[in-house]
Amino acid sequence: MAMLEKVLIANRGEIALRILRACKELGIKTVAIHSQVDRDLMHVRLADESVCIGPNSPTDSYLNIPTIISAAEVTDSVGIHPGYGFLAENADFAEQVEKSGFRFIGPRAETIRLMGNKVSAINAMIKAGVPTVPGSDGPLTEDDERTLRIAREIGYPVMIKAASGGGGRGMQVVHSEAALLKGVQITQSEARNAFGDPTVYLEKFLETPRHVEVQVLADMHGNCIHLGDRDCSMQRRNQKVIEEAPAPNINPESRARTLKACVDACKEIGYVGAGTFEFLYQDGEFYFIEMNTRVQVEHPVSEMVTGVDIVREQLRIASGLPLQYTQDDIRISGHALECRINAEDPKTFVPSPGKVKHFHAPGGNGVRVDSHLYSGYTVPPYYDSLVAKLITWGDDREIARRRMKNALDELVVEGIKTNQSLHRKLVRDGGFKQVDFTIHYLEKLMRD
Ligand code: ADP
Repeated sequence: MAMLEKVLIANRGEIALRILRACKELGIKTVAIHSQVDRDLMHVRLADESVCIGPNSPTDSYLNIPTIISAAEVTDSVGIHPGYGFLAENADFAEQVEKSGFRFIGPRAETIRLMGNKVSAINAMIKAGVPTVPGSDGPLTEDDERTLRIAREIGYPVMIKAASGGGGRGMQVVHSEAALLKGVQITQSEARNAFGDPTVYLEKFLETPRHVEVQVLADMHGNCIHLGDRDCSMQRRNQKVIEEAPAPNINPESRARTLKACVDACKEIGYVGAGTFEFLYQDGEFYFIEMNTRVQVEHPVSEMVTGVDIVREQLRIASGLPLQYTQDDIRISGHALECRINAEDPKTFVPSPGKVKHFHAPGGNGVRVDSHLYSGYTVPPYYDSLVAKLITWGDDREIARRRMKNALDELVVEGIKTNQSLHRKLVRDGGFKQVDFTIHYLEKLMRD
């Protein structure tokens, strides 16, 4: 089995650069595809070849399946890496990539489909013995009496969730029976508009959970390992802001049980590639909420504590090579933090695109910066506002935190607004320091 010879990177920004770096290390030739405005992206300059695939709107470029496949054809690419976002969890894309004779760097299309629907994902997890949030264990029906009965059994507050939801959208909390049916209607119509699928289900709304997730890697030969867990509880509008590995203060017994359950579930569903099981963690117990069938924004914190290069493993797995590690090889060493630097107003969170007059990346022992920014680069208004990920590693959480504090002081981004000041405040915050937080902590902190 040989490594893929040439990979088309079907993404942009920091993750495109991350993938390009991994390909270059492995001697894989690279093809960058980009929209018109993105010709100045760092990875486009560094790729062996680049193809402009269309206008700036994502639907005309990074979401345009036929154009991306044509770009793979004209460049004789062998594999296609979707990164995260855009088409990364689009089963039709994965299917068309494979049908056109290319290798999709990710799980099989049927796995993406199974896990892309939260209802079928939850059912698959129940079958594999992974604990889930108490809920309707399936879609709600037209039968209002049934809906009311299920909610009563679960107990209020409940959360109405869209089966096809993602990116923190398609969710609503309901505190009393009087508001339930109206809430279901609203979420259904929102889900129909946003995801083309009105299916919704119910879950108990957990009031004091943390978000803890498990990174897995599985090859085509039935080998599967986990790389431990991450905490991503610092969130705003269900979007992660700070992540860390390992998740601090976790009950060792339920951790061991959950890590094993994730690996077992992968084997059960024949999972291939990198993936993440997301859980809510409350009162010492894990409750599965969804699986992401792709590389995640926060993957570097797991890389820092395990030494495993997750994107390299993705490329190896897609090449048909076996995992380079057994579970016994994986040791969690020290602690890592990641701050997501977004081009946005730190108070209003309104995106702040524009020209970066000056960019200076922090450095030093245990500091990693994943960013496509450079002085003179213009952040376009059309895409996600993530512009840099600051990652720090330390022997323990406190050293990682102090290094992050320094890194945030050193970072300079002039010309656009970023959330750097919010992060500087957060890493100094008592609750963050003492791991005294839940998924609701950050929003509450910002309200007070
Ligand atoms: P998405 O696919 O949009 O990311 P998730 O199901 O992963 O949606 O949920 C995103 C976030 O929403 C979680 O990290 C958590 O903060 C919150 N959340 C989801 N389900 C629940 C629940 N049952 N109770 C409380 N909070 C929840």
